[in-house]
Amino acid sequence: MRKKYSVLVIAGLLVLSFLTGCASANYNRDLVMGIVWQQQSGEYPALCYQAFNSGKEYVMTLSGQGRTAAVLDIDETVLDNSKYAAWMVVSGKPWSAEAWEQWCNAASAPAVPGSLDFANFLSARGIEVYYVSNRPASTTGSTISNLKDLGFPNADQDHVMLQEDTSDKAPRLGAIRSQGYEIVLLAGDSLEDFESFTRRWPDTERRTWVDSQIEKFGVYWLVLPNSVYGTFESAIRDGYYGLSAKEKAQARLDAIEAWKP
Ligand SMILES: [Mg+2]
Repeated sequence: MRKKYSVLVIAGLLVLSFLTGCASANYNRDLVMGIVWQQQSGEYPALCYQAFNSGKEYVMTLSGQGRTAAVLDIDETVLDNSKYAAWMVVSGKPWSAEAWEQWCNAASAPAVPGSLDFANFLSARGIEVYYVSNRPASTTGSTISNLKDLGFPNADQDHVMLQEDTSDKAPRLGAIRSQGYEIVLLAGDSLEDFESFTRRWPDTERRTWVDSQIEKFGVYWLVLPNSVYGTFESAIRDGYYGLSAKEKAQARLDAIEAWKP
């Protein structure tokens, strides 16, 4: 009888520890190293400055004829959202449209290092600055406030183009061109900021394509660093967004290539 009782107690404890383990599993902790790098390292701002310095050099080679425009992505290109990602880690809550909108509406994101100076540089050289982003259109007012408070040029309804119906940026770039502008430069932290057709590709194809576009980076396309989030994550596996947090964590682990000593 005592033995049976002990077995029951042990089984109970095992179930309890399993349940506690489930409740405390915070897969957002995978974001920590990327956030620390973005918020604390000197290398993060150095890479941002490198991208924008490269863009300035390129812009100075342009003849300045005709109507020219530059298209800047917003998140992790001109606005730093690392505090939102850090909130996900601290709260353990998954990404959600509601919380993301709340963060955008707080309009308190700091500028990405060098981005403000770069946008003003473009503007001073007569290049029309547009902000094309997949933030939801419902956050247009607060995004404009955030950009305006930081001193960004053209922070208005005509130049801040957020996502209405599609995440594909090509139609919005088309709308800018249809106003008679030649887009001379794009800046972003994600490949689809440059060519939207890459957005559904797996990472292997994205990397092959990048290798075929070498001469454009740092010239016509400025790439900003973002190791915290991006399409690269969902591109590791088909149907990634449909996976549970635990399965996503496993898919990320499966994606790394390890040394086998
Ligand atoms: Mg972005």
